[in-house]
Amino acid sequence: MIIVMKPDSPESEIENIIGEVKQWQLTPEKIQGTTQVVIGLVGDTATMEISRIQELSPWIQEVLRVGKPFKRASLEFRHGHYSEVVVNTPNGPVPFGKNHPVVVVAGPCSVENEEMIIETAKRVKAAGAHFLRGGAYKPRTSPYAFQGHGESALELLAAARAATGLGIITEVMDTADLEKVAEVADVIQVGARNMQNFSLLKKVGAQDKPVLLKRGMAATIDDWLMAAEYILASGNNNVILCERGIRTFDQKYTRNTLDLSVIPVLRDLTHLPMMIDASHGTGKSDYVPSMSIAALAAGADSLMIEVHPNPAKALSDGPQSLTPEKFDRLMQELSVIGKTVGRWS
Ligand code: PEP
Ligand code: MN
Repeated sequence: MIIVMKPDSPESEIENIIGEVKQWQLTPEKIQGTTQVVIGLVGDTATMEISRIQELSPWIQEVLRVGKPFKRASLEFRHGHYSEVVVNTPNGPVPFGKNHPVVVVAGPCSVENEEMIIETAKRVKAAGAHFLRGGAYKPRTSPYAFQGHGESALELLAAARAATGLGIITEVMDTADLEKVAEVADVIQVGARNMQNFSLLKKVGAQDKPVLLKRGMAATIDDWLMAAEYILASGNNNVILCERGIRTFDQKYTRNTLDLSVIPVLRDLTHLPMMIDASHGTGKSDYVPSMSIAALAAGADSLMIEVHPNPAKALSDGPQSLTPEKFDRLMQELSVIGKTVGRWS
């Protein structure tokens, strides 16, 4: 349930309502909308009658029920106002959101060595990317596959950040590594395989760095938004959702099925910014450009694209990685669409 106060409501009146709400054993949260003060409530309010609440103050403009199970993640919770997640990078603040230029995140699947990560960072920066991605801790299907260089890879990401000023996005797999990852990362990634690792979600929700929450490969949109709800309910409002493909019956020609229909669906359901990862979504570098362009045209706020200086030699996800040259070309194509839809910086 959300109580919307009239514009210019006196602070004392807002405090009164918050006091009332607390007596109902609920947790009020003040949200600053564009012109209204909104008090969002999370909890079971089935017994509260809207008309009774409205009688509490002449300054109440509206009382809305959030029928969805995801309360804080819902669009109603922000009273239809899309939130922005602003990430501070050495090159300056980068905002993610519906009313901002599309944010491009590029880099290798894994951080392999100093030379390749610095070179890739420089190349993707020159092409116009805003963030460098790269895994230090890798969630691999096989325990015998390359698992990532761990802590030493975090140091290399820090070096790439210092060399280029790009923000860093990297994955945390284990709560034990969270502090180390948060020291280097500007955005902490929770991978598809950990989307419902609730103890990890609570921990990333209890720290300050923005979180990129990838959709589980068999997660419904409700599952995904409930996972985001764990992070929001733990106190971290800076959550970006990332679609990276789901499992479907036909996966002979693509690694996953990239669900681009989430773009309008999420816009209806949530205020959170969204990213589309066509690299994991298709698994094939040849298909990444068209799907990235489609995602931008359909209104995605951000794109993730894997780039490797020598995809044939990559330690993970080579087949879906673009060379820096192909990434350059894709950025030029994206800029044409981006300018047309007014979302290119
Ligand atoms: C990744 O980004 O490299 C990754 C492992 O992604 P996902 O969790 O979507 O598979
Ligand atoms: Mn990968």
